[in-house]
Amino acid sequence: EKGLSLAKVNKTYHQGAKELHVLNDVSFNLVPGEIVALVGPSGAGKSTLLHSAGLLEKPDSGDILVNGISSASLNDKHRTALRRDTIGFVYQYHHLLPEFSAVENVILPQMITGLSQKKAHKRASELLDMVGLSERLAHRPGELSGGEQQRVAIARALANAPTVLLADEPTGNLDPETANRVFDLLLKLVRSVGLTALIATHNHELANRMDRVLHFEGGKIC
Ligand code: ADP
Ligand code: ADP
Repeated sequence: EKGLSLAKVNKTYHQGAKELHVLNDVSFNLVPGEIVALVGPSGAGKSTLLHSAGLLEKPDSGDILVNGISSASLNDKHRTALRRDTIGFVYQYHHLLPEFSAVENVILPQMITGLSQKKAHKRASELLDMVGLSERLAHRPGELSGGEQQRVAIARALANAPTVLLADEPTGNLDPETANRVFDLLLKLVRSVGLTALIATHNHELANRMDRVLHFEGGKIC
């Protein structure tokens, strides 16, 4: 029962007097190792869906199961622990810490789990090697190109060995050629590690290279 499942997930935002039903009984299932594209118009709620699936945002109702573990009944502490143990995120903007080097940015999330500095450094170096940045360990984000920054962000997402990767327009800020290269790398890594992945993209060509496409509009998968 590994993978990622959403079961009748609802989320409504209140904007003044207005109610916005962003997620309307959303249900789907990603089997382990499945790589699925999430497509839909801007403002449809893809980010909200990813944040909910990633246990960052609590839905109003419904359940999110990660590797068969139901999150609905967990308290905040246990939900956070489940997220840390199982889920990696990549965003459109890299969100790297500007004062820290590439390797430090990949070390930091591991320190939270209590791993030794030495082991975390070793793993961070290996991950940065996997994304082709073994020559850039000591560079700060500002000294890296956009594609390199995003590759550090991918390494960071994998730092705690997640089983599920969630990505929100991971190549949306890059020029088309760089975007293609970074996307190739992301897909290759996700497949080689056997991750289950849900990747929001506006790029239909990239979407069609995944195992399956989920269309999301009007609060529903359609
Ligand atoms: P997408 O990622 O598909 O562009 P979002 O999930 O970012 O969509 O947003 C869906 C809708 O919900 C948008 O209309 C957005 O303005 C609104 N929204 C998102 N987050 C919040 C929030 N925290 N409070 C109120 N409205 C929000
Ligand atoms: P994107 O479409 O690039 O995913 P958005 O601009 O829709 O990003 O949202 C960025 C962040 O701002 C998200 O965390 C979202 O929840 C929040 N957000 C979006 N719209 C609103 C809003 N109307 N009110 C409050 N927060 C919002």
